[in-house]
Amino acid sequence: MTGQIQTLKRWSGRIVPYCQSCGMPLFTSADAGTEKDGQESSTYCITCYRNGVFTEPEHTHEGMIQNCTPMPAQMLNLKPEKAEEMVRVFTKDLSRWK
Ligand SMILES: [Zn+2]
Repeated sequence: MTGQIQTLKRWSGRIVPYCQSCGMPLFTSADAGTEKDGQESSTYCITCYRNGVFTEPEHTHEGMIQNCTPMPAQMLNLKPEKAEEMVRVFTKDLSRWK
């Protein structure tokens, strides 16, 4: 459990920037969100942020956790409650939720 969180952080945090809303790593410019002037965002991903606004401005941290849980559950073959805990820990330090 803890090992998986650290692997994710190292993978996404140290080597590439990651979305400060959902935690998705921004590997390429295609993953990056866009600012109002069309510039790439270095802070948020394309799923969360387009044209300078959040795609789901009403999203709460809790909503994001629920949204993001199926992905690691499937990728890492975790039980839903384990995946949820992991997403919760991983996203709690992201700047959108501070
Ligand atoms: Zn995102």
